[in-house]
Amino acid sequence: MKATRFAPSPNGRLHIGHAYAALCAHDFARSFGGHFQLRIEDIDGTRSRPEHIAAIIEDMDWLGLHHDGEVVFQSQRVNHYAAALEKLRDMGLLYRCWCTRSEIAGALKSKPVRHGPDGPVYPGTCRGVERDSPHCWRLDMAAAMERIGPVTWTDLQAGLQHADPQLFGDVVLWRKDAPASYHLAATLDDAAGGISHVVRGKDLFAYTSVHRVLQELLGLPEPVYWHHGLLLDTKGDKLAKSRLSEPLAAYRERGIDGAELIEQLRRGELPLGISNGSA
Ligand code: GLU
Repeated sequence: MKATRFAPSPNGRLHIGHAYAALCAHDFARSFGGHFQLRIEDIDGTRSRPEHIAAIIEDMDWLGLHHDGEVVFQSQRVNHYAAALEKLRDMGLLYRCWCTRSEIAGALKSKPVRHGPDGPVYPGTCRGVERDSPHCWRLDMAAAMERIGPVTWTDLQAGLQHADPQLFGDVVLWRKDAPASYHLAATLDDAAGGISHVVRGKDLFAYTSVHRVLQELLGLPEPVYWHHGLLLDTKGDKLAKSRLSEPLAAYRERGIDGAELIEQLRRGELPLGISNGSA
C-alpha cells in the first residue's frame, strides 16, 4: 500500500501555504489509490497548543482534504523515539551536549565558522566531554557516515540526490527542553506509518540528507520524496514570514468555501499577491 502524509506543527494557524502542501500530499495519495495520513507534529510541548491542533483538524475538514485512519500525534510516540535513541547510543554514535545557545555563539566566534542551511554548524565542543547537568544528545555525523558509507535518495522532481548530511554537522536528536528532535521523530514516524512517498515543501529538501542517514542507521525503509514548490508573497518571501500568511480561518470567516479554494489551487489559480515559487 502506498501512502503520503501531511505533518503540520501546531505552533500556529495553518495558512494557504499549508493548504497547498496538504493538497499536494492528498492528491498524490489519491492519484494511486493510496493512504493519506494526517500527522500532528506536537513533540515540542513548549510551542504546541491544543487550540492549534483543533484548528488544524477543522481547517482540513473545511478544505475537504480528508485523511485516512487515525490522526497520529507525535506526543504519543515518545517511547518509540526513546527506543531508537537508545539503539543509536548503543552503536556509539551519540554524545551528550551541554552547550547553551549563547555558548555555541561564543565558541563560533573563537573558531572559523562553517555555515549550513540552518546557520552556523555546531563546532563539536562537547564531543568527548562529561558533565553532570541537563544535556541534549547529538549524532556524531562523521562516525555515522563512516558506518553507512555514501547515501543517496530520489526526489521525484529533482532526481537522484547524493546525501550531504555534513551540511548540518552533529545534529541534535534529543533535546534538552523537549523530547526527540524533528529529524528523529519524523523519520521514525514515516517508517511506522508506512509512508512510501514523503511529499513536503522544498524548504525541507536539505534535511532529507539527515533523514536518510537515520534510516540507514536504524534499518528503516527508504521512501521516495517529492519536495514541492512553496507559495510565496510578491516579495518572494515564504508565506510563514509574510503578512499574506493570514490563517485559513480568516478565509472561512469571509465566507469562502474551502473545497472551492482547493479547486482553485488545483487549477493553479492563486489568491491575489501570492505566487508559486516552484517555477
Ligand atoms: N512539521 C513540519 C512543518 O510543519 C513538516 C515536517 C515534514 O513534512 O517532514 O514544517
